[in-house]
Amino acid sequence: MLTQEARAAYRTQSNEAFPQNYERKINPLALRDDVESYLKEYRLQTQINKYELNFSFGNSEYRHLRDTYDGETMIEKGKKAIERRIREGKSVNREEAELEGLQLLEDQLQVARPGEVLVWASPPGPKNEGYGNYGFFYIGNLSSGKQAGDVSLEMEAVRVEQPTIDQFNKTIQTIGGYDFHFDKAEDFLSHPLILSELKGDVLPVLHDVFGFSPDPSKMERDQRILKIMQSKIQDFIQAVKAGIPKIELLQQFHILENLADDLKVNIDKIDLTHWLTVSPEQMMIRYDHQPAFAGGSCGGSTEHNSDAPWDHSNDLFNSFSTLKELFNGDRYPDYQCDSCGTTIHGESKNDRSSWTPSCPKCGKVFNKC
Ligand SMILES: [Zn+2]
Repeated sequence: MLTQEARAAYRTQSNEAFPQNYERKINPLALRDDVESYLKEYRLQTQINKYELNFSFGNSEYRHLRDTYDGETMIEKGKKAIERRIREGKSVNREEAELEGLQLLEDQLQVARPGEVLVWASPPGPKNEGYGNYGFFYIGNLSSGKQAGDVSLEMEAVRVEQPTIDQFNKTIQTIGGYDFHFDKAEDFLSHPLILSELKGDVLPVLHDVFGFSPDPSKMERDQRILKIMQSKIQDFIQAVKAGIPKIELLQQFHILENLADDLKVNIDKIDLTHWLTVSPEQMMIRYDHQPAFAGGSCGGSTEHNSDAPWDHSNDLFNSFSTLKELFNGDRYPDYQCDSCGTTIHGESKNDRSSWTPSCPKCGKVFNKC
């Protein structure tokens, strides 16, 4: 629940109950991960990010790559991302290549064995569309999942700055040990590779080819920043749950971006004990402005979707970010009644009074605490 003062800060009606159907629109655990991934990519430029993927049966008779939190297949998410971008009049070259890549990855996972290694690369998107000049190289270790037949992928996304297509080719040639040549970013996105073994360690190759040099003190700093920010990230998630208008939600998000920027420079100077007691109102005054340009990308989040940085992620796993569902467009995505499975149309992000109070088919009440 929101604290008293947070509630005041979010300007919600105190007599309004929290909508219980919110979690079918945006999963709070997925949202926390996505906020962190966003901050790591755009504000902190984190060098190595970790992901976990599961290739599992879920509740179906087929194995798919699934979201850890809601069980939705990555392919389904990929298709939705394409549909949304088409509706918004945006290019879908990268998203289509990613979807192809997911399908190819699933094909390979059907016959893959524990101990094998996934190699995938995401060179940057076009500069004129607002993508920053950095990319990611992914290494995933395959192991047995929780249930029989499930495969778990422990992924590391290594960020490389100002990369060229040739460097990505050279890296795969070196660690794969065979001749390899792609011409454009989409070729890499659509071709994840599962190799039975690598020819040596990856990080030294990334160092030789891209000049990648992991900085333990910076990685430790990023972890500290995210730890400090947890309570503020939770405040943001509570604001989403409270259904505050999109424009105010964006201010709340700016707080996170500006705070991350501030901590990045001043983490050793700020008196954290004092700072953590700062009220939400004071946080707003200090941090709710449009953030500075993010390193290498087109800027911080804005209310104009065409400029929103989450649309220009070079990390292919950020393509499925719930932040897009939160901020792009004026309606939430469609969701399912958890009692009977009826599809309910996503409601307005700006008018909570229009949210569906109960399932039109089975009568399950959504909006009651
Ligand atoms: Zn129902």
